[in-house]
Amino acid sequence: MAETYTGTGPIPKPTPETKPFWEAAKRHQLVIQRCNDCRQHYFYPRPLCPHCLSRNVEWTQVSGRGRLHTFVINHRPPRNFPVPAPFIIGIVELDEGPRLMSNIVGVAADPNAVRCDMPVEVVFEDVTDEISLPKFRPLTA
Ligand SMILES: [Zn+2]
Repeated sequence: MAETYTGTGPIPKPTPETKPFWEAAKRHQLVIQRCNDCRQHYFYPRPLCPHCLSRNVEWTQVSGRGRLHTFVINHRPPRNFPVPAPFIIGIVELDEGPRLMSNIVGVAADPNAVRCDMPVEVVFEDVTDEISLPKFRPLTA
């Protein structure tokens, strides 16, 4: 499921809070946190459940499937971020609930080809020996 990385943008630097996320991404698994008290998933990574403030939380693998909540097609990458344009920046709502921002790949960066609510699945781009980026592509099957 790996795709060739074509960008030359900044590489994420894992922090103590995000390290499990990036370690799993390297294994091409999408993990987010879930609260053991109220059982809700959440993202971005943090040591406290945003729903009930419990610290009894754990990392758990999720399906990697969701829907495209919203998106923008960027025709002009920021300076010092020379990725091929146009590209799609999307907010994906995972089947488990939380939303995360990523790139939408495997579809033309064309408003006629991308639509809100389209089903998507995660795909990983290997960037360095340590970092793989979770991105999302239209779910075909
Ligand atoms: Zn909770």
